[in-house]
Amino acid sequence: MRRVLLTNHVLSGALIGAVARRPGPAFAVGVASHFALDAVPHWGDWGSKRRFLQVAVPDGLISLAVMGAVAALSPAERRPAVVAGMAGAALPDIDKPTKLLFGWSPWPRVVDEFHQRIQPEASGRAHIELLAAAGFAAALSVLRRPAAGPDSAGPARWRDRRG
Ligand SMILES: [Zn+2]
Repeated sequence: MRRVLLTNHVLSGALIGAVARRPGPAFAVGVASHFALDAVPHWGDWGSKRRFLQVAVPDGLISLAVMGAVAALSPAERRPAVVAGMAGAALPDIDKPTKLLFGWSPWPRVVDEFHQRIQPEASGRAHIELLAAAGFAAALSVLRRPAAGPDSAGPARWRDRRG
């Protein structure tokens, strides 16, 4: 029962997709980012299954909402890469719901063991997760801005004001 909040995996995956711009690399880097993020000290080590679920269930639902919202808000030309990045970043944690519901992981045991072993978790690190989420969200909102072209809104707005 150890994990980085899925919401943070989804946000970082979206960011990767926005930068990568191509779905293939975005997906691959998204998967890599999952394990990289897991290896950073993060929140975890919940005392009980009940406490774990109190965090994991809302986190799962928020992740789905974030995926939908980010996909909808992404500029059309970036959307495939952004969705691929989010899917890649979230994919390694698909074993969390399947273990919870069916007691079964879709990954080979070596992957599960690696996934567990890389995670240095401790309780009381919620602030790191929240800071990370805020950082990812801020970076995403910057990337969402359309690139300023030669005919950007600036001069037109001035003309409008005069006329
Ligand atoms: Zn993980």
